[in-house]
Amino acid sequence: MRLVGGNLALDFVNTRSGPDDDVLTDYPSLISWGLYAGALTEAEAAQLSPRAQAAFTRALHTRDYLDEVFRSVATGAEPAPSALTRLRDDEAEALAHAQLERGDTFTWSWRDDHSPDRPLRPVVHAAIELLTLRDLARVKACGGCLFLFYDETKNRSRRWCSMQDCGTDAKMRRYIATRRIRSSPDPRRAE
Ligand SMILES: [Zn+2]
Repeated sequence: MRLVGGNLALDFVNTRSGPDDDVLTDYPSLISWGLYAGALTEAEAAQLSPRAQAAFTRALHTRDYLDEVFRSVATGAEPAPSALTRLRDDEAEALAHAQLERGDTFTWSWRDDHSPDRPLRPVVHAAIELLTLRDLARVKACGGCLFLFYDETKNRSRRWCSMQDCGTDAKMRRYIATRRIRSSPDPRRAE
């Protein structure tokens, strides 16, 4: 599993990388992903009951509407109003369980939230921050797979989830296509 989204909400959408390829199979896998992605600390994860089927189902629905919202943004389409309404409601719910903590600035913390929806709180909040504070033109879909990412490059040139995977595949395909054109007989020189 790779974190290439550059934003917690996009990384959450990227947990499903294909129709038969899903990192999230049950609630414990959601907790594991939360730890891996930095949405939860070990101490917070230890407070969560691993048996929370309803919360797991809600998490999958959340992923569906986040996918709809950000794939629309990435392709220049308007997200469905129903998806935005659900996101607003989930953010209101998340903030109702949060507290403000002092660091360099004040930030939202869900340290004392032990409810089964806890892993999703920072994901939903990251989605709101991305939509309201960041440059939407930098939200992109990989040219080679289903992944979404936030393009942090200076000249907004990022096209792939990662150069090691889809970027290399694309380069390889271009190389093979170019060689095929070069090696095929040119009909204008045939006579
Ligand atoms: Zn890709």
